[in-house]
Amino acid sequence: MPDQSSAALPRHDHYIGGERVAPSSGDYFVSVNPATALPLYTAARGNADDVRRAVADARTTFEDPRWRDLSQTKRGHLLRRLGDLIAENAEELARMESTDNGKLLREMRGQLATLPEYYRYYAGLADKIEGAVIPTSDRRVLNYTMREPLGVVGAITPWNSPLTLTTSKVAPALCVGNTVVIKPSEYTSAAILRLAELVVEAGFPPGAVNVVTGYGAEAGQALVDHPDLAKISFTGSTATGSRIAAATASRFVGSTLELGGKSPNIVFEDANVANAAMGVVAGIFAAAGQTCIAGSRVFAHRSVYDELLERVAARAQSIRIGDPLHDETELGPLAFETQRDKVAQYVDLGREEGARVLTGGRATDGGLGGYFYEPTILVDVDNDMRVVREEIFGPVLAIMPFDSEEEVLRLANDTEYGLAAGVWTTNLARAHRMAARLEAGTVWVNTYRAMSPMSPRQGFKASGVGIEHGTETIKEYTRLKSVWVNTSEDAVADPFVMRS
Ligand code: NAD
Repeated sequence: MPDQSSAALPRHDHYIGGERVAPSSGDYFVSVNPATALPLYTAARGNADDVRRAVADARTTFEDPRWRDLSQTKRGHLLRRLGDLIAENAEELARMESTDNGKLLREMRGQLATLPEYYRYYAGLADKIEGAVIPTSDRRVLNYTMREPLGVVGAITPWNSPLTLTTSKVAPALCVGNTVVIKPSEYTSAAILRLAELVVEAGFPPGAVNVVTGYGAEAGQALVDHPDLAKISFTGSTATGSRIAAATASRFVGSTLELGGKSPNIVFEDANVANAAMGVVAGIFAAAGQTCIAGSRVFAHRSVYDELLERVAARAQSIRIGDPLHDETELGPLAFETQRDKVAQYVDLGREEGARVLTGGRATDGGLGGYFYEPTILVDVDNDMRVVREEIFGPVLAIMPFDSEEEVLRLANDTEYGLAAGVWTTNLARAHRMAARLEAGTVWVNTYRAMSPMSPRQGFKASGVGIEHGTETIKEYTRLKSVWVNTSEDAVADPFVMRS
């Protein structure tokens, strides 16, 4: 919706085939800084024509012998160079993300410090992806397997950690020789466009990574529906993921889906409560709760419930809200106005459902005119309330007491989601028992939010399908071929003469 004032803003076009390409419709949309509510830039409003052009370029590059036949070692060199370029441009990228989605610059700097490691990890892996020789019953036959790239991969990503979540898809996809079309969140286009430029600067062919910006229902849907797409790798809400899964399945196109969560963080009576309190605070108030792995449901053993609550509430009340670019700020805004409104509506709903707001519970402009919401703790809640069952994606914690391990296991697993879980205990046997029985793709014991490009992760239940990170994710971006070679010169038997 460009208007008079948006004409003066920086303007971002799509990035297709190594060039900035204006949207075929001529339309742009405005991206807003959530800390100030002021417009930041305009970005191309992509449509099906733009997607067609990007997929065509990606397909041409995929088939180009200069990319198709490149040795895996050389692909590794390119990925390593890309990692180095990201490290060199880290401050610029961190600032772009922070002003676009409101996350703390300190946090984005931390993410940018790790981001090159993702590319370096897949750089190292590139020439170690091997097939197998299968010992079939016939020794005259050589049967071997090989992994092939899929083709053009569509990557659709959310706004909460745009570069990291896009990298989780782009690095392994390129590592094995695919090409990519990215549709970033309409709230965070700028840093992804800059990443695509760095891909070409690193020496990848133009067309290896393309970006079509725009809205989900337009550019995103067109990408999902494109007949030449070999795969969709999606991170976002469970509702959108479900629609994408249905659309791709009907065409037999694979999808990797990283979706929502409502993760339990469980504090046992034998836990170090001071540490657990810090883990609880980090789990829900870091990034203003806008992480898929937010530990939004805390279960505390009744004997430590009061102490934990006191510690968590004290820290929540002292969290410094403010400008995400300032070093002393601890909580930035929600990423956009309707997200802030959604959080406020959920807290109101919690009140209606009978929850008590212990701390927080109010929207604020943070003194900057932006979309902030206070760190909020809900007590007197139970597992049946909507505020405890549904993903809020904001700084809102629901905390409940429990009496036994069996009870808390049942409550923790009583959710449609299965992304992550935290366990705080000093009992080793209990730690492993809980890790085995919690229905979550990631379980943290005496820590929370730990992550590494080396460690595979997967959402269980409505939290996703498929694996990201580690060596496992290579399977998501390749297909397996089985080749049978008759190595004997014996006469080929008549098929109608039965062998004894
Ligand atoms: P969203 O589903 O609204 O949007 C995600 C992306 O999908 C955006 O790029 C959007 O434009 C696009 N999109 C929307 N509708 C589409 C459609 N019909 N067809 C194709 N694309 C479409 O999610 P969001 O609000 O941007 O992100 C927050 C959600 O992401 C939360 O639920 C969070 O838990 C989840 N998330 C999950 C992980 C994980 O690894 N599991 C990580 C981060 C965020």
